[in-house]
Amino acid sequence: MHLNQRDAIWMRAGLDLKKAGVTSWEQIMKNVMNLYKAEMPFIEKMEAIVLTSPEEVTAGLAEAHAKYAARDERAKGLHDEEVDVFYGCTLCQAFAPTSACAVTPDRPSLCGAITWFDGRAAAKVDPEGPQFAIPKEGLIDEIKGEYASVNEMAESRSGGEYSRMALYTFFDAPHTSCGCFETIGFYMPEVDGIGIVDRDFRNPTPNGLPFSTMAGQAGGGKQVVGFLGMGLLYYFSPKFLQADGGWRRIVWMPKELKERVKDGIDADMFDKIATEEDAADLTALKKFLLKVDHPVVDGVERKVDGKKISEGWKIEDPSEYEDAVIAFIEETGGDIDVDAIKAKLNMSEGQFMQVIEYLQDEGILE
Ligand code: SF4
Repeated sequence: MHLNQRDAIWMRAGLDLKKAGVTSWEQIMKNVMNLYKAEMPFIEKMEAIVLTSPEEVTAGLAEAHAKYAARDERAKGLHDEEVDVFYGCTLCQAFAPTSACAVTPDRPSLCGAITWFDGRAAAKVDPEGPQFAIPKEGLIDEIKGEYASVNEMAESRSGGEYSRMALYTFFDAPHTSCGCFETIGFYMPEVDGIGIVDRDFRNPTPNGLPFSTMAGQAGGGKQVVGFLGMGLLYYFSPKFLQADGGWRRIVWMPKELKERVKDGIDADMFDKIATEEDAADLTALKKFLLKVDHPVVDGVERKVDGKKISEGWKIEDPSEYEDAVIAFIEETGGDIDVDAIKAKLNMSEGQFMQVIEYLQDEGILE
């Protein structure tokens, strides 16, 4: 079994292989080469080298990283407005039968392997292959990135499993997630924000789930609102989740991942996004977001058009907070300080006022 791309690959060999007569690397690599040749018939000759010494692996990785970086820089310079064709890819239908990716300059593949340039090259090399052109036609919603032509591709290539696919949103007809995504985004309703985790982070995220559990729930080529597979290059896109507030909606990432995509994060948001060092669970995450005045607390104003798209944190049942708020008012003598509300009650100013209004309505406070 082989999953994922670039240098983030997972490979597993079953012990039963030996019983089936596979006893050498040569047999395995010959099959790998045959697979490459079958997928890319223009390959005439090929050699496979298996590196096992750590020094050679390190040197090989450095060489590969330099090539990835050069490709990524080229891809970052092109935007959706500048092209009239997008590309689709169904390579992962081998294990996710309803998966169909739309690859655009501003919405690179979730696996990290296919940029718009790669899609264009592959579609030209093998017009019958898994990568194909999608004419950029029938704009339905510029902010969500919804096009009639992408919808048609999604419907036909998924066998009618879904009929819409928007490129720049988490919540409405999001892109499908096959399973080999570099990272996964997960919505946390408790803070009305989105966390992101990569497969190298093995611990549970603040919602209590590790990458592997969420990948299992979201993978398989389905549209799962609340989870979204995303490639690292998407974090550098000016259209990154633009319909949902972009970086203003991101609340948590592993520290290493945050550093890795630092240049893509809006500068004013970098310090407002928690890492595992700031918050390991939802209670700590709420405290952190309150402390840094994260936009999700009072409602996110979308950067692309200035529209307010979320209301901020609300309390469902203010009576639950009655005792705590009364005790707080007695303790402070009515001299209310916003920072003290956040620190002592773990509440936003808006939530505090919600409880105050409830207490006034009930005649408990004047
Ligand atoms: S994740 Fe999408 S773009 Fe990447 S290989 Fe699979 S189908 Fe193609």
